[in-house]
Amino acid sequence: MTRAPINKIIPLSLVDGPGNRTSIFLQGCNLACAYCHNPETQAVCNHCGICVSGCPAGALSIVGNRVTWDSTACIQCDQCINVCPTSASPRVRNMTPEAVFQEVQKNIPFIRGITVSGGECTLYPNFIKELFAIANEHGLTCLIDSNGTTDFSRFPELMALSQGVMLDVKAWDEQTYQKLTKGPTNSVVKKNLQFLSDCNKLEECRIVCVPGEVDAEDVISGISQIIGEKVRKVKLKLIKFRRFGVKGRLQNTPSPDDAYMQELLQLAMDLGFEQAVIV
Ligand code: SF4
Ligand code: SF4
Repeated sequence: MTRAPINKIIPLSLVDGPGNRTSIFLQGCNLACAYCHNPETQAVCNHCGICVSGCPAGALSIVGNRVTWDSTACIQCDQCINVCPTSASPRVRNMTPEAVFQEVQKNIPFIRGITVSGGECTLYPNFIKELFAIANEHGLTCLIDSNGTTDFSRFPELMALSQGVMLDVKAWDEQTYQKLTKGPTNSVVKKNLQFLSDCNKLEECRIVCVPGEVDAEDVISGISQIIGEKVRKVKLKLIKFRRFGVKGRLQNTPSPDDAYMQELLQLAMDLGFEQAVIV
């Protein structure tokens, strides 16, 4: 039976794609971005048990050789995340697509669709595919929020079940990308830009803007060169870096000022993006 670690399910979200959507966040990521504001979603718990005794609410216990979490007792103090040697979280449910959809189903009168996010949700392609198949049967649209490191052309069935991908384009220059993400290469992200644009599944591109860390001007130009005239249709989100939740070398970095963000927006508009926004 297919299962995936679920970090959280937000019943109603207005920021994860068009309309009101249920957002499902999967645990685990193959990148470690310096600006990540949910670093506790990067590693998957290895059930070492170190965090259990420090839980002030008694919400953690060891059953067999696994750490289990009682969501009804948890007071969301984050003590477990703070002591975890791998910065993982024990507050994860290992769920089947059917079990996730039971939670989605409660929101159906109020939502247009679902969005899977993370961590990096495409680490679990079979789980997403099965969840999307069920959601499609109930008339819901299905979006993927991804860091773009999975080659989407290798998953035609998943693509057929999904209305589109919201793609992070984190940096354009390879060395800048590797320094930011600790990932291997951004060649797959660029390949995905072309592939998703060609098959009209590029729902949105997102750039987190951090002067001195991210070559945002190059990213905007690079996207426009690859997707060509689709710049008129594809949404472009210029995300102002905020240090809330960030740990590590960027945790004290200030947000870019409004003038810088406006310059980026102007560049995007000059290159033909008609749906570029600052968020
Ligand atoms: S956040 Fe972690 S440590 Fe705090 S109550 Fe919940 S499970 Fe326990
Ligand atoms: S969350 Fe971290 S500390 Fe707690 S059991 Fe998992 S790996 Fe160990």
